[in-house]
Amino acid sequence: MPINIDYSERLKQLPPYLFVEIDKAKREAKAAGRDIIDLGVGDPDLPTPKFIVEALNKAAQDGANHHYAFDSGLKELRVAIAEWYQGRFGVRLDPDTEIYPLIGSKEGIAHLPLAVVNPKDKVLVPDPCYPVYRSATIFAGGKVVSLPLKAKNEFLPDLEKVEKTEGAKLMYLNYPNNPTSAVAPKEFLAKLVSIAQAKGIVLASDLAYSEIYYDEQKPSSILEIEGAKDVAIEFHSLSKTFSMTGWRLGWACGNAKLISALAKVKANVDSGIFQAIQIAGIAALKGDPREISDMRAVYQERRDCLINGLRSIGWKIPPPKAAFYVWAKIPKNFNNSMEAAQTFLEKANIVMTPGVGFGENGEGYIRMTLTVPKERLTQAVERIQKIL
Ligand code: PLP
Repeated sequence: MPINIDYSERLKQLPPYLFVEIDKAKREAKAAGRDIIDLGVGDPDLPTPKFIVEALNKAAQDGANHHYAFDSGLKELRVAIAEWYQGRFGVRLDPDTEIYPLIGSKEGIAHLPLAVVNPKDKVLVPDPCYPVYRSATIFAGGKVVSLPLKAKNEFLPDLEKVEKTEGAKLMYLNYPNNPTSAVAPKEFLAKLVSIAQAKGIVLASDLAYSEIYYDEQKPSSILEIEGAKDVAIEFHSLSKTFSMTGWRLGWACGNAKLISALAKVKANVDSGIFQAIQIAGIAALKGDPREISDMRAVYQERRDCLINGLRSIGWKIPPPKAAFYVWAKIPKNFNNSMEAAQTFLEKANIVMTPGVGFGENGEGYIRMTLTVPKERLTQAVERIQKIL
């Protein structure tokens, strides 16, 4: 007889997964053979560059790489990350104390609160956001304090609210942002660092999209700000930069005490990253930077194709400055984002993500990704025109 399994309170507390209905409808539509244009997934369609795959192939043949890896990863990987950060952001990091490899950045983002948040501690979480910030806070028993991201504030949180929230322990920030595509100016980051220093708030900066930017406007790392290492840990990843989402390789860097705390949690949860993947990651980081600029050019062309196409049919959306997301106000003929997403799927065979799934302040918006070829984006515009 099966026993009665009662889920833990923390699991019960997770917000409802609002993408369930859309996911189900998408699967059914695909199974029914409908020609679906999927603008829902935040996963590059571009393949991982060949030289990285070849590096993995070679490393996977070597039995020395088949054992448990060191928790803190290969020293060569940490050195390669330090050199890449120095080259891209001009930020100096100590490979031994200020860098820690992760099984994808999501893993570190999710584990961090276990290291620094006590039950009932307040955690400042942007809304809308990558949903992991909220669930990770709940898993650690923390209290989510929402920071609304509004178009009128360029989708930046209100720093006055950050300053006035008494007892906040941790704050997540993510620029370039998923889902809004906003970027944070350096002045904003500098103000935030000085507030965090004054109020004792740990800053967790999620920089997963730093290399997907447009019009040559490079996003900054928070660690470029003087004093940031006093308060900040930053999460980065090979997933989007090198189209390696399935490989699971990222890292945390910044404040050494935070890195060490996260390492302690991880030492009790996982046993490091397959060494052959680490070696392929070193190849990626040391590779020709033109691989990244070529990728950027592809996304920029797609961005222009979709934004100009939608503009030509009367749906005017500010072009994203970074990331591969288009965050659009839903057209007036819909009551809410879920209804819009359902209609686009049912009537146009296009998957889009309803904004409300990223938080209540995402209501009224819909997210489209640039992870399909240009020709499909052109087709999507033609299909959308028939509905609007
Ligand atoms: N951060 C943001 C904002 C994301 O959108 C994602 C993935 O979609 C991640 C982090 C996780 O990336 P990964 O775990 O593949 O490094």
